[in-house]
Amino acid sequence: MIKILQPRLFLASIFDLDLASLKARGMRGLIMDLDNTLVGWNRPDMSQELIAWLQEVRNHGFKMCIVSNNLTERVEEFSRKSGIMSIPKAAKPRRRSFWLAMKRMGTGRHETAVIGDQVFTDILGGNRLKLYTILVHPIDTHEYWTTKLVRRLEGHFVRRPRRPQSFSH
Ligand SMILES: [Mg+2]
Repeated sequence: MIKILQPRLFLASIFDLDLASLKARGMRGLIMDLDNTLVGWNRPDMSQELIAWLQEVRNHGFKMCIVSNNLTERVEEFSRKSGIMSIPKAAKPRRRSFWLAMKRMGTGRHETAVIGDQVFTDILGGNRLKLYTILVHPIDTHEYWTTKLVRRLEGHFVRRPRRPQSFSH
């Protein structure tokens, strides 16, 4: 397996993230993917569970920034509702938007984690900058056909546990 594509941590969902231990690792900032990580595919609505979780992240003192390859309007709508800053049309895995997110959060590379559901955008982008990368299972399976194709390809590079369990290395 190729190392640049391996997440540091694999979780079933954002709700399984141990915020206290992430903080204990020295993390202060969280770069978050939007679609299929925080919300279902192309749905801007926020569940009560998500609202509560975002508050919990804030309570732990984390800065947050959404970095999404999705369109401006869609991402900004979520940004408005959640009060979390965002970078739309991010062109992940290119590094530029990750740098920009860190600049906005005021965090360095060793104190920034990335959480997302896609290996070739979220994980690869984060790993290129040596950020702490966290892969989650996608919320929805309804996606663009291109994304579906990418996921099949992902399977050749990263073995996702059949029953998601967190691991760290
Ligand atoms: Mg995603």
